[in-house]
Amino acid sequence: MALERTFSIIKPDATKRNLTGAIVKKFEDAGLRVVASKRIQMTLAQAQEFYGVHSERPFFGELCDFMISEPVVVQVLEGEGAIAKNREVMGATNPADAAAGTIRAEFAESVGENSVHGSDAPETAAIEIAYFFSGLELVG
Ligand code: UDP
Ligand code: MG
Repeated sequence: MALERTFSIIKPDATKRNLTGAIVKKFEDAGLRVVASKRIQMTLAQAQEFYGVHSERPFFGELCDFMISEPVVVQVLEGEGAIAKNREVMGATNPADAAAGTIRAEFAESVGENSVHGSDAPETAAIEIAYFFSGLELVG
């Protein structure tokens, strides 16, 4: 398996409940290394562009409003097979379907307010990392 980088967001429901450390511990325990991290207040335009693939879905407006409701923590995670591993640690989108021990099973409040985002493929990981981090922030 190849050493990969993936993009993660600790979402507003989690930052608001002071769960940043608990979620990072899940990543680290799974062998994912935090190689870049910052806490930001996303703008509506950023949220709409970031989730542009979902713009026709009925939950799009609510999702974008949620993503700007509190600061988020954006991170780059590195590890062997990091993209799939992160998705595994996150658990299913709907916490009701998420496997025991996953972030969403333990912390998510609903299918919308589900604590974390993680890239779903190498192409999206590269685009999402570049959207939030400059090359200079990624030297590690
Ligand atoms: N979402 C929602 N309602 C749905 C499906 C998704 O509010 O029925 C939100 C949820 O926050 C999810 C995000 O939209 O994390 C992106 O959806 P996606 O299907 O890409 O899920 P993910 O990749 O985050 O598991
Ligand atoms: Mg997705």
